[in-house]
Amino acid sequence: MHEFKKKIVLITGGSRGIGKAIAQAFALHGAYVVITYKKQKDQAEELIASLPGRNHICFQSDVTIDGEAEFVITKIIDKFGALDIVINNAGMYINHPISKIAFNDWKVAWSSTLETNLIGPANICYHAAKHMMSVKQGKIINISSRGANRGEPDAPAYGASKAGINAMSQSLAIALAPYNIFVGVVAPGFVETDMAASSLIGEQGKAIRNQSPMQRVGKPEEIAKAVLMLSIDGMDYATGAIIDLNGASYLRS
Ligand code: NDP
Repeated sequence: MHEFKKKIVLITGGSRGIGKAIAQAFALHGAYVVITYKKQKDQAEELIASLPGRNHICFQSDVTIDGEAEFVITKIIDKFGALDIVINNAGMYINHPISKIAFNDWKVAWSSTLETNLIGPANICYHAAKHMMSVKQGKIINISSRGANRGEPDAPAYGASKAGINAMSQSLAIALAPYNIFVGVVAPGFVETDMAASSLIGEQGKAIRNQSPMQRVGKPEEIAKAVLMLSIDGMDYATGAIIDLNGASYLRS
């Protein structure tokens, strides 16, 4: 139960959904958890208060704002003197189907999605890696999506952002391995969270559940388990791996 005892873990977007489940799982296994959020202060504070163990903190930080990544990493190092594990989880999804959307809205969808889902995590990786390189150890897990490979017809920027996460993570796995830094990816299919909620109702929801032979979507706790699995000591040789968790709704080899 104490696999991550006193490890300092940053989870971006930890106020709800998958990030919340990851925070709970790390705290249960002894880590000191730092979560960031964009707007949901109350949810974030409630979660921090409910976590087992002590020393957990949360603070507001929008990954799209210039300078925030450096601010977040510096704040953690100042408080704890270390940063062992980073989970780039914060993300957004907006519909922008090419057949229906005006060009200006298309441009906004692309820039906001890429800023949140790709540039923000890249900046967190940069500043986290600077610290991790200096101490020659660390782990970075980035949350991608099935959509990187299966396609996102109604949200092509989302699919592109997650394909970018995969490519960035694999490039960084190679670049950072000489510094003893692990970089891995977890790529869920649909998961029961606020992000997926509107897609999971009615006939559309039924069709989505039926994409899996298990006839359901994923649970945040299942994604958290995979993140912890990649984060444990002894998994170093899996650096660069992309773990699919989609109930066999989209298989590739
Ligand atoms: P939710 O929408 O439930 O939660 C998103 C989290 O990210 C919240 O904590 C939110 O903060 C935070 N966030 C959003 N934008 C920003 C920002 N600009 N800066 C900082 N934090 C931000 O999402 P999920 O839990 O469903 O998704 C988590 C990750 O998993 C995402 O990367 C997503 O793309 C990925 N994923 C999700 C799937 C799903 O079906 N749910 C499927 C595949 C991948 P706040 O609460 O303050 O708004």
